[in-house]
Formats: sequence, structure tokens, C-alpha cells
Amino acid sequence: METKLMVILNSETQTAAIASAVSLLRNGEIVAFPTETVYGLGADAFNAAAVEKIFAAKNRPTDNPLIVHIASYDQLESVVTRVPDTAQKLMQAFWPGPLSLVLSKQEKLPAITTGGLSTVVVRFPKHPVAQKLIAMLGTPIAAPSANLSGKVSPTVASHVYEDLSGRIPLIIDGGPVEYGLESTVVDCTTEPPVILRPGSITLEQLRSVIPEIEAAESDGPLRSPGMKYRHYSPTAPVVLFIGNPRKTAAAMERYQLEHKERTLGIIWHTGISPTARLQYRLSFEPDLASPKLFFALRSIDENHPDEILVQGFDQKQTGVAIMNRLRKAASTIIAV
Ligand code: AMP
Ligand code: MG
Repeated sequence: METKLMVILNSETQTAAIASAVSLLRNGEIVAFPTETVYGLGADAFNAAAVEKIFAAKNRPTDNPLIVHIASYDQLESVVTRVPDTAQKLMQAFWPGPLSLVLSKQEKLPAITTGGLSTVVVRFPKHPVAQKLIAMLGTPIAAPSANLSGKVSPTVASHVYEDLSGRIPLIIDGGPVEYGLESTVVDCTTEPPVILRPGSITLEQLRSVIPEIEAAESDGPLRSPGMKYRHYSPTAPVVLFIGNPRKTAAAMERYQLEHKERTLGIIWHTGISPTARLQYRLSFEPDLASPKLFFALRSIDENHPDEILVQGFDQKQTGVAIMNRLRKAASTIIAV
């Protein structure tokens, strides 16, 4: 299959790209499109055969359900049976935006979309291209991230192309994404709601709306099917350094000196003078670093280093979500 890339440069190219995508989706095809979190790979959420194509293109295990994306509250009613007060409050505060909510599923939503569960995860994205695409299609779009399963989520269209060219008919290139981390997932079927996956909407922000909201216990029972899978891994092993920036910087400098024979890629933010040719400097501020984190991992990985060293972030606000992704990406964690 040939993969077409349609770049959005102005309102005409946007209209053309969305029209092509809508026509493919109506024909039961799948398309990659930008959202504010990461690029998504979408299908008509009510078309089971189309949704199956997403799992096939990504090599995604079929017990890992997809997020259903809506562009209006009418569409919400078509996919869920009930909206608890807690969910209502979160929607008012954070939708449209990078927050996904677990709610009870409408019967007619196909089982493949929700991995056979009686619940569904719903998000109302704020990216204008995602919104217009869903609105023009007139039905919700089921979409996971547009990468091969287990790989780092794509934050630019070229990263989608690297993973999925030849496997999908269309990629809409809307430029780099805004947040760069997958959405925060909150289970609203329980009282109080529980955060299943941290993201750019932080625990502090969620608690400002629902003070009782809980963070999922990492050693508690598995609440979200996706949590058991290894995620976010570049091909090269990732060595993650955890601790205060002064200490991690010193430990990374030492690691470089002790492993001169290896080709190292280095992703850092504070206090290092990397000698490695492959390096990417992120901001020390998690909110500014997150849009570039996956881009840095993928760009360094493309140069085939023996290892990628990453300087960890403080586990505060968006730093919690960044460290969640980095721990999943890491083969080795060095705490200093
Ligand atoms: P992705 O679309 O790859 O960003 O992943 C969506 C995340 O939401 C995965 O971790 C899924 O396992 C999780 N998820 C999807 N549907 C449900 C559900 N009904 N209940 C709990 N978690 C879910
Ligand atoms: Mg994903």
C-alpha cells in the first residue's frame, strides 16, 4: 500500500487533507492525524472491520483497547451510557484537551474498540484538525498513537511515516504536536475517580476540581490493560539516571568517560557538557521538555547509538508523566 502524506500549510490544504481523510474513513480505512498529545491512527469507532485494521497496522495486542475521540457532547451520548458528576466536572474543566475518561460503554460500540471491556475511554481533543476531522466524519474516531506497538509515540508526521509507511493510506501532517505525551487517563467509573495513566493534565490540576481523586498504585491491581505492556522504547537500550540534577549530571559525565568505546546518545537538561556527538538538550522545565522528549528519543535512536543516556526529571507536576514514560522506556535505571 502506498502511504500518502498531506501537509497542512493553509486553510485550503487543511480542507483538502480532511476531505481525503473523511472519504477514506467512510470507506472503512484508517488514517493518521495530529492531535495536541501525539499523532493518532484513527478509524470509525463503530466500524469493527476498520478498527481491526488499526490493530493490524500497529501490531497492537487486541486486548489493549483504544481511546474513542469525540468532537461534541452529542457524540459522547452515542458511546457512553452514563456520565457521573465527577466526569461532568472534569469535562467542564479540561475538555477539549489532553484528558481521557473511562466511562461505561454503550452496547452498540463494537467489542474490538474497547478490548471486550464494558467500559470505554473517551477524549474530546482540542487540536483543530482532529476536531474538524471527527466533526466532518460525523461519528467518533477510535485512535491509539500512530506508531508500531511498543515504540515511542510520534510527535511529528515523519515519525509516523517511519513506523507505518506502506501500512496505512494517509498521514495528515499538521506539524509538531503541542504536549508530546499521551493523554492523562482517569477512571470515572469508581468513586472517587482514579488516575490510570499520568499525563499533561497533572494530579494537582485534577485535584483542584476533584480533591479526592487518587493516583493509581503502581503495585495495585491492574486497572488498565495497556499498563502491562512495555511501551515507549527506542531500539537502543535506554539508561535512565534518577536523582537531583547535580548528581545525575555528574553520574552521566562519569558514565561517558567509563564507556568511551560505546557510541552514546545523550538526552539531558542540566549541568552536563556532553562529549557525545549524539545529544539533545531539553528544557529543565517539564512542561517545556515534554513536547520534545519523544522527538529527542526517536531522533537520537535513528542514529543507532549503542545506548541512550537520559537525565531524569523531578517527579513534580508534568515531571510525573515524563518519568512514567521514561521508566517504561528504560532498560537500566541508575539512581544516584
Ligand atoms: P493509547 O491509545 O495507546 O494511548 O492507550 C490508551 C490507554 O488507555 C491504554 O493504556 C489502554 O489500555 C487504556 N484503556 C483503554 N480503554 C480502557 C478501558 N476501558 N479501561 C481502562 N483502560 C483503558
Ligand atoms: Mg500508544
